[in-house]
Amino acid sequence: MTTKASNYLTHFRNIGIAAHIDAGKTTTTERILFFTGRNRNIGEVHDGAATMDWMEQERERGITITAAATTAKWTRSGTDQEYTVNIIDTPGHVDFTIEVERSMRVLDGAVAVFDSSQGVEPQSETVWRQADRYGVPRIAFSNKMDKTGASFDLVLNDIRERLGAIPAPVQYPMGEESDFKGVIDIVRMQAHTFTNDLGTEIEIGEIPEQFAGKVAEMRAQLIEAAAEVDEDVMMKFLEGEEPTQEELVAAIRKGTIEKRIFPVLCGSALKNKGVQLLLDAVIDYLPSPLEVPAIRGKVEDSEDTVAFPADPDGKLAALAFKIMADPYVGRLTFVRIYSGTMQSGSYVMNASKDKRERVGRLLKMHANSREEVTELRAGELGAVIGLKDSGTGNTLIGDGDDAVLLESIDIPEPVIKLAIEPKTKADQEKMGIGLQKLAEEDPTFRVESDQESGQTTISGMGELHLEILVDRLKREYKVEANVGAPQVAYRETITRATDVEGKFVRQSGGRGQFGHVKIKAEPLEPGSGFVFENAVVGGTVPREYINPAQ
Ligand code: GDP
Repeated sequence: MTTKASNYLTHFRNIGIAAHIDAGKTTTTERILFFTGRNRNIGEVHDGAATMDWMEQERERGITITAAATTAKWTRSGTDQEYTVNIIDTPGHVDFTIEVERSMRVLDGAVAVFDSSQGVEPQSETVWRQADRYGVPRIAFSNKMDKTGASFDLVLNDIRERLGAIPAPVQYPMGEESDFKGVIDIVRMQAHTFTNDLGTEIEIGEIPEQFAGKVAEMRAQLIEAAAEVDEDVMMKFLEGEEPTQEELVAAIRKGTIEKRIFPVLCGSALKNKGVQLLLDAVIDYLPSPLEVPAIRGKVEDSEDTVAFPADPDGKLAALAFKIMADPYVGRLTFVRIYSGTMQSGSYVMNASKDKRERVGRLLKMHANSREEVTELRAGELGAVIGLKDSGTGNTLIGDGDDAVLLESIDIPEPVIKLAIEPKTKADQEKMGIGLQKLAEEDPTFRVESDQESGQTTISGMGELHLEILVDRLKREYKVEANVGAPQVAYRETITRATDVEGKFVRQSGGRGQFGHVKIKAEPLEPGSGFVFENAVVGGTVPREYINPAQ
């Protein structure tokens, strides 16, 4: 038997965890890292122990800003098959939409976490639309099933009504709110009861009588959804026969990868219920790098594009998706390797900037350790030390290869601008250097100086975004600064639209409809900004709507 060089990729999953703020993304990620064995201390998320939230402000504010890529290992339950799961952390706050954009660009599948007492919230809708735009297959996790007001049906309904997607419930909760005891696997028709607080002891048994009716109804829906995407299941369905378990899993996987169905799971990350099953579902339903369309690159000075299939022996094609200043090793450039292999100590070409760069060292990041590696192969994510000029969205190719540019990351225009000056005049130069470094890391953060007044201004995606950067300026560059009042700002109320350069896509009645949606702008208070309806932050909102007074 011949073995293909890319076979290892069938055991790879590059996933993001996307959610509205407070839905439980951090807790879910933390539990995943705990159960995958990398993070031994299970802890309450915001007590400073959260491993993904390693920047100081994130801990203090309780939000995840950075999109760090973390590598974990998971053995599919009931098998001896080990998988590499790269988790790309995505932020939930609207000010950091660029972070969501850049992570969407480099992942192959996503877990959308919902708060089951809230259903689909505005920001979860924004994130869902971004995933649509990048063609990212998804599974949904209805979290907080233990919470007062939790309702699995609410989440299923909202996915249908608000997101216009077909939910495929592969699980059903055994009880809700304080009665939540476990999860019924509708595919395998088993009941999983969590018997200890850590969620490490699970009893697998028959489905309790009280849930039998509801589960039968859900299973019928699931089979129908699977039949829509798979002919074998359809044939059996038409003949009134049940598909086998393998057939059903395969059909759901196919439908998920084709983005025609969205498996929905449930649990409580906080109470350690359902997280292992979520990991199993990541393996069962989300694609490996071999199952997503090969990334394409545009050939320089031509309209031609070339495909880069995931193959470690192919030509190098990688995308830099995040720059981070690291206190220990300096500048870290996070990359996704689509094709070929990147070697430490080698030279690569930054095709976006037409600059030759040396790859110093290569790192794989784990929850609380780093592993130095000599190479990163197709399908892998890691961080490069040593790249000086490569920025977010830049394409890296082999030294001497023909120039091609991978589809880059959409960088939205800043929407708020503030004047900034150091508290002491002596700090002027230090402030300039600090701001420049911060702007290098974050393409939505701009620094400008007004020629006439000599005033420095900073602009970004929202007040919180700028506040955090000013805070970092103080902590990391020891510059205390005063900022002026916002010059322009807007808030948005998102209903159900996403952007395509001035055009908006409206979802209605479960089907995507293209159409123009008018943007309604209203001042919140004089000078403070405008409310947008049907607009998406991070999208292309025409400038004149942002500050019509000017
Ligand atoms: P993020 O903003 O999406 O990262 O959400 P976090 O993981 O920080 O969670 C927000 C809040 O919800 C925290 O207070 C968590 O303790 C809480 N939380 C997270 N998961 C659950 C859950 O399964 N059940 C309950 N009751 N609370 C949860």
